Amino acid sequence: MNFSDLAARTNRYLGARGEVPPACGELVEACLAEARAVQRFRYVSRIFDETPAFLRKSPYAEYFAGCPRVALCAMTLGAEIDLRIRRLMRSDPARAVVLDAAASALLEAMSDEYEERFGAARTDRFCPGYGGSPSEDVREIFALLRPEKETGIALLPSGLMVPQKSMAGIVGIGRRAERRCGDCAAKEHCTWKEEGTTCFAPEKRS
Ligand code: SF4
Repeated sequence: MNFSDLAARTNRYLGARGEVPPACGELVEACLAEARAVQRFRYVSRIFDETPAFLRKSPYAEYFAGCPRVALCAMTLGAEIDLRIRRLMRSDPARAVVLDAAASALLEAMSDEYEERFGAARTDRFCPGYGGSPSEDVREIFALLRPEKETGIALLPSGLMVPQKSMAGIVGIGRRAERRCGDCAAKEHCTWKEEGTTCFAPEKRS
């Protein structure tokens, strides 16, 4: 795992622009170390030879076109990191915000690393809500994957997952594809794009 990318990604999640002051950089490093120490990463996936019905619509159909198989997946850092963030919100809110961003960056990076087992010819992970896709499609993933027992993730009636540092998504297998903004509702006023980067790959500059 590339930990210098992790710091850069955390800074981007925090909305940091340009050079980060040394004190902020130290706080980010400390929070990344804390996130790594308390994470209980769990990842469950299931590969489908036939594309599940909910993926036969835009923008999934275009994104996964040419992929002979897809993997549905769900992943989490576990409940302990949520608890730490909640406690810090009362005692040290600034650190809580940084730890929250560090945990998000770590979950993305650990999931990316895990997905290398699907082979080099795979798409970037695509989560419902990206690129104008319906965020409620997370229910389709849960219905087909049933990740609750193996990961401890619960899907609330609101559509939110607990622990909060959890994701559910889809990886296309057999063809390389990078995520695009698609029909994202934020496209017209997106500060990521204004800076030549994106929310899903903030370390890359176009
Ligand atoms: S970079 Fe901006 S426009 Fe693109 S998906 Fe992220 S929020 Fe939407």
